[in-house]
Amino acid sequence: MLPAAILFDLDDTIIQAYAKPEEAWQRLLMRFSADLDDGTEVTRLHRAILDEARGFWSDPAKAARWRLDIAAARRLVVRQAFARLAKPDDALADRIGDAFTEMRRQEYKLYPDAHDTLDRLRATGVRLALVTNGPAETQRAKVARFDLERRFDHIQIEGEFGKGKPEPEVYAHVVQRLGVAAGACWMIGDNVEWEVVAPQRLGMRGIWYDPHGAGLPPESPVRPDRIISRLGELLE
Ligand SMILES: [Mg+2]
Repeated sequence: MLPAAILFDLDDTIIQAYAKPEEAWQRLLMRFSADLDDGTEVTRLHRAILDEARGFWSDPAKAARWRLDIAAARRLVVRQAFARLAKPDDALADRIGDAFTEMRRQEYKLYPDAHDTLDRLRATGVRLALVTNGPAETQRAKVARFDLERRFDHIQIEGEFGKGKPEPEVYAHVVQRLGVAAGACWMIGDNVEWEVVAPQRLGMRGIWYDPHGAGLPPESPVRPDRIISRLGELLE
């Protein structure tokens, strides 16, 4: 029942990285409460940052450019949030943005069944690829930190390859490197556009990883071939 090859996303599929931004920003801003006027300002800044970030990352062209320098993007988002509150303070904004980046980095965590699932899949002879967007240095550091290098037949990072998901060339190159047909591949990930819609267009199965059980919005036209909440389900 398993395919010839499986392509995995990295962030928020193999490791927890960027999930639950509301909670993470709240926790980070509490650390800066002494630098802010009062609790009201923490609340207002929290809302402003989330609004600015949503607007910032919803523009695909802008997102494609800035995801290669997420730390700088976060500084910019926090600067814009302060400006929106009519209290521009670029120095404090940059400290907050950098502290968020560092907090996120410290909190990266492997999903508990990730290694076991990858090792068991590999043992069955399925070819495995890791296909991740983001800068070379940051993504390579995650690959090393979580001992992923030896678990994949091919690792493709946007910052190294020069193109990111959902560009068709990304998936085409992976398939070619693995020596399999697109129709014999599954792609697994938490981003429906990158890991379900784009791969399906190329003839792959698109499997949506939904670890928090969020579900697709009722009006979503996306039809994943399968939805899983644990990676281990791939072997069931
Ligand atoms: Mg992801």
